[in-house]
Amino acid sequence: MYIDVHCHLDICKDIDKIIEEVRKKKIGIIISNGVKPSVNRKILELAKKYKEVKCSMGIYPIDALALSDGEIDEEIKFIRKNKDKVTAIGEVGIDYKEDSENWDRQKKIFRKFINLSIELNKPIIVHSRKAEKECIEILEELNAKKVVMHCFSGKFSLIERISRNGWFLSIPGNVNHSEQFQNIAKKIDIKNLLCETDAPYLHPLKERDNTPVNVIYSYKKIAELKNMKIKDVEKAIEKNYYRLFS
Ligand SMILES: [Zn+2]
Repeated sequence: MYIDVHCHLDICKDIDKIIEEVRKKKIGIIISNGVKPSVNRKILELAKKYKEVKCSMGIYPIDALALSDGEIDEEIKFIRKNKDKVTAIGEVGIDYKEDSENWDRQKKIFRKFINLSIELNKPIIVHSRKAEKECIEILEELNAKKVVMHCFSGKFSLIERISRNGWFLSIPGNVNHSEQFQNIAKKIDIKNLLCETDAPYLHPLKERDNTPVNVIYSYKKIAELKNMKIKDVEKAIEKNYYRLFS
């Protein structure tokens, strides 16, 4: 079974057709990530409708800035209320791509979601664009144990720190063409790896409309880079998934 731990199924085109394909290609688990309150509700419905789909609820760091503290606390209450249907907390984190006066607020919101993930004992799926070190420092400070760094592109010393902490890196389809992701997949022990598509973004062949079906590209590339059989990569990652998500 193949597993996609990070995508945005709610905004993929023709979801019924994608699920049909997913079933043919043995993709057994798809974690769709929420980025704001309306999306969290949508993916809850998708998870009800399709047995492969799991629900990760969170607020994307940039979307969070548009909400008041009260609205964020309300959403945290909603997630807590639905904890039995929630597989992970995410997509949450910090994004320093754009110069912003709101960095302190992003950190404050991120802390709330880390605390929620610890309270509910669910993994946290972290977005850390241009704020890789900051994210790791806060996660370490709050003693988070179940962590997936999604699409991580920080320095290699930080990658080693993630693996020392026993956290996970989810390898996106860009591993097909990005030397940086190839280096991560090569050097980091398979026991710290998961795979993702970030669909509909980040098509492995740089085409449009990525789907969870393409998670197979990450598996294939990891097998090639680590000189392993694809079957063994599949088994190892399934084991990692159950170690982290149960
Ligand atoms: Zn994402």
